[in-house]
Amino acid sequence: MAVNTSDAHRRAVPEHIGSGFESANIAAMPLILATTTPGEPEIFASLQGEGPSAGRPVGFVRLSRCNLACSWCDTAYTWHFTGDNRPHRHAATFDRAANQLVLGEAEVARLIAALGRRRLVVTGGEPLLQGPALARMAEALASIAPETSVEVETNGTIAPHAGFDAHVAQYNVSPKLAHSGNPTALALPDAPLAGWAAEPRAIFKFVIAAPEDIAEALALAARHAIASQRIWLMAEGTDAAALSAREAWLAEACIAHDVNLSKRQHIEWFGDTRGT
Ligand code: SF4
Repeated sequence: MAVNTSDAHRRAVPEHIGSGFESANIAAMPLILATTTPGEPEIFASLQGEGPSAGRPVGFVRLSRCNLACSWCDTAYTWHFTGDNRPHRHAATFDRAANQLVLGEAEVARLIAALGRRRLVVTGGEPLLQGPALARMAEALASIAPETSVEVETNGTIAPHAGFDAHVAQYNVSPKLAHSGNPTALALPDAPLAGWAAEPRAIFKFVIAAPEDIAEALALAARHAIASQRIWLMAEGTDAAALSAREAWLAEACIAHDVNLSKRQHIEWFGDTRGT
């Protein structure tokens, strides 16, 4: 279930805001959302398909922009814009104007509240790039729908903004391993990961493409003393057949290492589509 918004609340995406970290005044940045179709924000009701909340009815808001460039990213339309030469499995790039939308934080909160869900998943892209704007949105949401609990999907490279953090019930931290194609220093910075390891609201969800990725994930978890019950291993893939094939050996590994298996159930339910 997606939502529509009126032209009155839209603003142009500032030209200086691209796909990664910029030197712009971050506190003044507006909230930049991904779109389902050009001009429509990716705010929708669905079921959480991954991690410890899988199966729960939730609202989703997907933000645009990311500071990483995973070669297999399934939401490349949030960052892989025309002119970005970083490699991706699919060579296609996306028109930024058609795939980003700026909305006022109060309007985003209104659209989320209109979904009528008690839990919100904030995802991206990398949503924590937009901390101050997220904090304003979360404040607005808390004032009109105070029963909403907030779950955040993050790649674990950025500490959360304090004003937003105060509203968050659960962080799903997904550090990106070597097979993502990102430089290690960018994708696996020690200080933020140590911070997430010490955060009791954080669980860790590792994307696994091949059996050898498991050892890398477990070594990272051991280095940060992350207990096995906080670890989920999830197969990489965007079609149900590929996921099922990988989950066959991944399940055996989860048993052997006493960690959780995460499926990607939204792929089974809806396919690899936006707004689901
Ligand atoms: S961190 Fe997430 S959103 Fe960013 S490129 Fe990787 S998979 Fe995509």
